[in-house]
Amino acid sequence: MSITIEIKYPHCHSTNISQNGKKGNGKQNYRCGRCGQQFIGDYHMTYRGCRSWVVGMVKIMLIRGIGIRDISTTLGISITKVLKVLRTTKYQIKPKLSHYDCLETDEFWT
Ligand SMILES: [Zn+2]
Repeated sequence: MSITIEIKYPHCHSTNISQNGKKGNGKQNYRCGRCGQQFIGDYHMTYRGCRSWVVGMVKIMLIRGIGIRDISTTLGISITKVLKVLRTTKYQIKPKLSHYDCLETDEFWT
């Protein structure tokens, strides 16, 4: 039985990756074949908040209305990281009409 882990560069999503030696701390270093950038794979990151999938997962959990402390505990990242994602995410709600006669606000938790 073998386990295959697909590694791709988080910024350009290229799977044309080659190993590029090791860092001073012993972690495997990779190089993207498309743009030439060097990076450390997700599975070698010490802090979970630096992994590439964390930001997308935090956004999904924020949209679902999960609290900041719950996201931090569930994903094993700091509250500061969750707040940074919330602060730097640009999402704008576009109204369907330009003018409304009456608006109603429902519960607003996050
Ligand atoms: Zn690249």
